[in-house]
Amino acid sequence: MTKEIKTIGVLTSGGDAPGMNAAIRAVVRTAIARGLKVKGIKKGFQGLLNDEVVDMERKDVSDIIQKGGTILGTARSSEFKTEEGQKAGAEICKKNKIDGIVVIGGDGSYRGARALSKFGVNTIALPGTIDLDIACTDYTIGFDTAVNTAMQAIDKVKDTSSSHERCSIIEVMGRNAGYIALWCGVANGAEDILLPEYYDFNEQTIINNIIANRKKGKTHHLIINAEGIGHSTSMAKRIEAATGIETRATILGYMQRGGSPTAIDRYYASMMGAYAVDVLIKGHTNRVVGYKAGEFVDYDIDEALEMQKNIDEYQYEISKLL
Ligand code: ATP
Repeated sequence: MTKEIKTIGVLTSGGDAPGMNAAIRAVVRTAIARGLKVKGIKKGFQGLLNDEVVDMERKDVSDIIQKGGTILGTARSSEFKTEEGQKAGAEICKKNKIDGIVVIGGDGSYRGARALSKFGVNTIALPGTIDLDIACTDYTIGFDTAVNTAMQAIDKVKDTSSSHERCSIIEVMGRNAGYIALWCGVANGAEDILLPEYYDFNEQTIINNIIANRKKGKTHHLIINAEGIGHSTSMAKRIEAATGIETRATILGYMQRGGSPTAIDRYYASMMGAYAVDVLIKGHTNRVVGYKAGEFVDYDIDEALEMQKNIDEYQYEISKLL
């Protein structure tokens, strides 16, 4: 028997990502248009445990689609990783008459959504992460904006390093996933792209490459380093010592998370937010929304968490030859 949904909650969890506000806006407005009540839960699962629950109306999401971050706030909650925490969270949902909940976050947040589903609250998750590292979807909320922000910053560093004939190492976000590094590597014309998925930690190859390029008359050498490789500053020192070429490291850091979302992030996040509400209305639970082969789809969370994704070998190969 499917459960009738009258009130849905929405929360953002894990790292913030540009486009989360577009998703929240779409959840609120679609739900209201379908005759449901909506409650916003502040600061992720921790806010749920603290009963930080507010009513949301159409006007509460006015003028937010263009804003980075998340108006609901986000957090990481270790308490919610415990079974007692999860039961308490489900009780707070019931107390607030929340029968379905939209969780916007990365795969850690999916596990939180799965726990709420287990304790009787219907759940659906949206892929909110700048890292693009979720296997059940070709699109994640925030990736497009983050990659464009990083690309523009790298263009600027490249201008100055070419003028000074320097070698530049630029570290972009991606602890376990190299998608931002791969895309920037291609989009910025990097000489070397270091990805956690493929890097063999053989610095000598890079050093030889720099020396060979300089002999051919290249005025700059750009290395894009994914955060998961790390050590950008010490790598710069070693490369400078080995090549005699001035080498600087720039760590882009949190600036890649912020800023106004691109049209792609506003559009897809809006569609996913609406789609999530429509799946909940059907009475489904423990689901996650994805975008695959040009369509919005949904999967069981357990199935989604078991899927594997890796950087495509062909794309990596091409990134090196360009
Ligand atoms: P990002 O990709 O930005 O890191 P994420 O959603 O993967 O986002 P996490 O910190 O892994 O970020 O998870 C966010 C929150 O989800 C955690 O702080 C915790 O409250 C909840 N969570 C994570 N793992 C679990 C789990 N196994 N069971 C229940 N809740 C979990």
